[in-house]
Amino acid sequence: MKKSYYIQTLGCQMNYSDSERVDSVLQNMGFNKIEDMNKADLILFNTCSVRQKAEDRVFGQMRKITKLRRERPDLLVGITGCMVRKTSTKKQEEPDKLFNRIKQLDIAFRIEDLPTLPSIINNFWEIKSCINEGNLKNYFEINPKYSNKFQAFVPIGQGCDNFCTYCIVPYSRMRERSRPINDIYKECENLVKNGCIEITLLGQNVNSYGISDYDKKTGIFEGIDNPFVKLLQKINSLNEYGLKRLRFTSNHPKDLSDGLIDAMEGLETLMPYIHLPVQSGNNEILKRMNRHYTREWYMDLIKKLRKKIPGISISTDIIVGFCDETDEQFKDTYNLFMETEWDMAYLAQYSVRKGTFASKHLKDDVPSDVKKQRWNALNDLLKKVSLKKHKVFDKKIVEVLVEKYLKGICEGRSEHFKTVTFKSDKDLTGQLVKVKILKAREWLLEGETV
Ligand code: SF4
Repeated sequence: MKKSYYIQTLGCQMNYSDSERVDSVLQNMGFNKIEDMNKADLILFNTCSVRQKAEDRVFGQMRKITKLRRERPDLLVGITGCMVRKTSTKKQEEPDKLFNRIKQLDIAFRIEDLPTLPSIINNFWEIKSCINEGNLKNYFEINPKYSNKFQAFVPIGQGCDNFCTYCIVPYSRMRERSRPINDIYKECENLVKNGCIEITLLGQNVNSYGISDYDKKTGIFEGIDNPFVKLLQKINSLNEYGLKRLRFTSNHPKDLSDGLIDAMEGLETLMPYIHLPVQSGNNEILKRMNRHYTREWYMDLIKKLRKKIPGISISTDIIVGFCDETDEQFKDTYNLFMETEWDMAYLAQYSVRKGTFASKHLKDDVPSDVKKQRWNALNDLLKKVSLKKHKVFDKKIVEVLVEKYLKGICEGRSEHFKTVTFKSDKDLTGQLVKVKILKAREWLLEGETV
């Protein structure tokens, strides 16, 4: 009988994209994917370390695992993603430190070591695999099992060299390494020729694609002036095969070059939306976060973007209550929000991530109730600004890529990455639909088909 597996993915789109490659490896081994954790022979967690909450969710599942194992002693439990530092099994002499913290764990593998997953599983069960790990240079060469045909997330690199003081990614995902342009193009071409109409290029820092120290060492981008622009132009050319929408995330403001802004203007498939994390509006805090830009520099960037691409939708990330943040410093962030009027902001209250520079050298001394107050203040402002920005679309016609259909309502994203809902007798998932906006709400737009 076929073995089954259940995978729970936490965190960012990069993790969701990685899980599609894990699906591919396991299904090539003959595993059957199921949605009920209680019945699976293999339970995998693709983890995130950016916030403590995401890690806690994994720990929170372990009581359930203990109970399941009592019923089925041969149950296999594995972890991948940001929480893992060393690919290992509980049978090894010096496994990953996670094995000390999670007694229920059998397998831990770094996502970069995905090609070796079949041999790791074979330490426990004898299962044949179609993946010849010896032939793979890296895990990106594994063809993913995409979760749908019309929309795909394609990773263009791994890791980060920026070392923001609060962030664990440079330690968990290691140094920044970019995939060759042709490999990404081939994956995208294959997707588009099979009906994909929207591609999102993914990376921890997409706009430094091809310029990291590691990339320079490989020499594969030598002679290419702006590798990310070149990549966007190449993927954009897939419009001749049916690509309609191109997006990319996430960006670091310091790497958003004038060349990229100029190029964005002329790419037919590139959607008028960008995510540009600011994190704070105070220069002292930005320095403490090691962000490499000032509030003034960021504002100039926003101005340039809005001048070149009028109406562009811009979202951001903000952390409140970072080490030593005073009321005055928070006010700078609040005022920056009023000035910038981001379309959307993902707000977080600072929490210590073990292993980061901030955890070792800075004090997490803003009381939690103050963090909460600051978060609430920004959230109230966000609601007002979001509604104001949504009202701009009132009575306008937008094109929506429908992502889901539930109880007679289609839901999808417009060109500007706005969530749009409309009534429909039919499930239009996967289709581009023209919708007239009738009602602007804080977090979504409601309309009808035209
Ligand atoms: S740019 Fe900063 S916040 Fe983003 S992944 Fe890299 S270190 Fe983390």
